[in-house]
This record gives sequence, C-alpha cells and structure tokens, in this order.
Amino acid sequence: MTQYANAVTQYENGTALGGRIIREGGLVVFPTETVYGLGANGLDSEAVLGIFRAKGRPADNPLILHIAKKSELKRLWSHVPDKAQTLADAFWPGPLTMVFKRSSIVPDEVTAGLDTVAVRLPGNKTARALIKEAGVPIAAPSANLSGKPSPTTAEHVRQDMDGRVELIIDGGPCRYGLESTVVSLVGKPAILRPGAVTKEMLEAVIGPVEVAHAVLSPLREGETAASPGMKYRHYAPDAEVVVAEGSEREIAAKICREYDIRESMGQTPLIFATEQTQPFYRNRRCVIIGDRSEPATLCASLFYSLREYGSRADVILAEALPNDDMGLAYMNRLLRSAGFNII
Ligand code: AMP
Ligand code: MG
Repeated sequence: MTQYANAVTQYENGTALGGRIIREGGLVVFPTETVYGLGANGLDSEAVLGIFRAKGRPADNPLILHIAKKSELKRLWSHVPDKAQTLADAFWPGPLTMVFKRSSIVPDEVTAGLDTVAVRLPGNKTARALIKEAGVPIAAPSANLSGKPSPTTAEHVRQDMDGRVELIIDGGPCRYGLESTVVSLVGKPAILRPGAVTKEMLEAVIGPVEVAHAVLSPLREGETAASPGMKYRHYAPDAEVVVAEGSEREIAAKICREYDIRESMGQTPLIFATEQTQPFYRNRRCVIIGDRSEPATLCASLFYSLREYGSRADVILAEALPNDDMGLAYMNRLLRSAGFNII
C-alpha cells in the first residue's frame, strides 16, 4: 500500500482520496457525529488488523461496521429482525449501533471471534460520503490510542494518530462528543453502551429495553462483558479523575473539600464546573464544561475537556449527573475515566 503524506484535509476533497486509501487496505481517520473514527475496509482482515496495531487495541475488543445504506444490513447479518428494521427507520442515519448475528462475509477480526457484529449508519455527511467512495463497509473504532479519551477534534486525533494512519479528514468538532449507543437485538433488546439515542427514545419505538449491568458498574469477579469494550480501563486522561455524587450543593461542597485537601498536598487540582455550580467554587481553578439542565452539553465537552486539560492538572474533580436520558451516557464515560473513583 502506498504511504500517503499524513495530511489533514478538508472534507470536500478528503473523501475521494480517503475512499481510495480504504480500498487499497490503508487507514483513514474520519469525522462522525459521535467521535472521530479510525477506519479500514471492514471486509478485509489484513486492513482490519491495521486498526488494532495503530490503536494498540486488545484483539478481543470487536469493531463497529459503518454503512451508508440501510439495505447493507442484510449482507452483514444472518437476517434483519423486525425490531432492528424499526430502529433503523427511527434513528438512522444517527448515533445508534445495533448488534445482531453476523453473516459469513464478516471477517473474524472485526467481531473478535463473536458470532455477532455491530453495525451503524452514521449521520455525519462526510462519514457517509467516505463510505460511499470506499464502496465497502468501514470498520472503525474511535481514533484514539487504546485507553485514552476518544477524540472529538482533528487536533486531538493528531496527538494520538500522527504517523500511524494514511489520512486524517478534518470535519471540525463532533456534534455529540461521545460514542454511539450500542444496543443488542440478540434476545431481549439491551443497551450495552449508552449514548445520544437514549433508553427512553428506544423504548418509545420498540418497548422495554434493558441496560447491561456493566454500564454503570465495574465488572464483577468472573462476569463476562456483553460488550467486550466494557472490561477495559477506558477514557483515562493523564490526570487522576474523581467524581462527586449527591445533590448539586452536596457535590459542590465535596469538590471544594477535596480541592483544598489536594492543594494542601502540593497537587494542582482542576474542577470541571457547570453553569449552575460555578459560583460555589469561588476562586478555585475551574473550567465550565456545560449546563447541568442540558446533559447533552456536558456529553459534548467531556472527552474534549479530559484531553484538553488532562495534562494541565494532577487531579480533575468532576460532578455526577442523574442517570436518566443523556445523563446515563455521561456517567458511563465519566465513571470509567475516573476508574470508579467516587466521593
Ligand atoms: P469503539 O469502536 O471504540 O466505539 O468500540 C466499539 C464498542 O462496541 C466496544 O465497546 C465493543 O465492545 C462494542 N461492540 C462491537 N461489536 C460488538 C459485538 N458484536 N457485541 C457486543 N459489543 C460489541
Ligand atoms: Mg473507543
């Protein structure tokens, strides 16, 4: 495969070049509405192995196949269950990934040997244009080194992937800032990873949806993860992360106390404040990362802020949100970035 210059291109002309690179077996980073993806030809085992090498990703963590037309589903799955069709019609293109029994054209490297495969039709136009140009499903995990927070800007991609991929397509900041909702349709519908398509939104369309235990808890001894990605330390910035739980006032009081203790130990703490709580922190170091009454704003800036400020503090003190709607996706990522370090 030709080594291309590691150029960052604007999306207008990036997708034609990107499509060619994918067809030739190379790696292309592209924007989606969730986070940036690290893509390769999803039907080519060798190309897919390149993704695992570039990220340092454990081989038993499967990838999502990205398609540009709903009709592709029936090529990738053994068949398309009614509920999947209903969800596709309701939420595609968009930040929803569905897991079901795979067909024989899907390589083992994509599914990490599982008999199921995850598929998504992204909402981002550049992503869809790239998939169309490539003419194949694109296997893509988030474009970060394994264990780091997912990148939501091309600059954050560059920090991890410069020199490891053939092309980075710059599509500006990602709209949602967190990875897609992953829902399994093998058996009772279950959320394996929460995202911008919430439990409430899914249930309005297909009825009851379970939430996998590992979404808000570390795996129990001997428990196997329904979604293999759940078992790894995830989204960890350079700094330690501590999460404060309780009412708004309790959270603020806990954070102020922890801040002062850490400072007296000679550490540099930084508070991820919100519009509502910022006044409580007075002259302590803080950045406002969103509005507690609109969890989507916190979701959109969590990974960005972890990457941006993670190297400028010893400890980040962050606020818990209630676990409903997009608060569930927020807490799933925040608790993992904190290694479940809760006060
Ligand atoms: P990433 O691409 O980094 O967003 O990670 C993809 C996520 O989807 C990981 O958490 C995987 O464990 C999950 N995933 C992908 N394929 C499957 C599958 N066949 N069954 C269950 N989870 C999956
Ligand atoms: Mg990831």
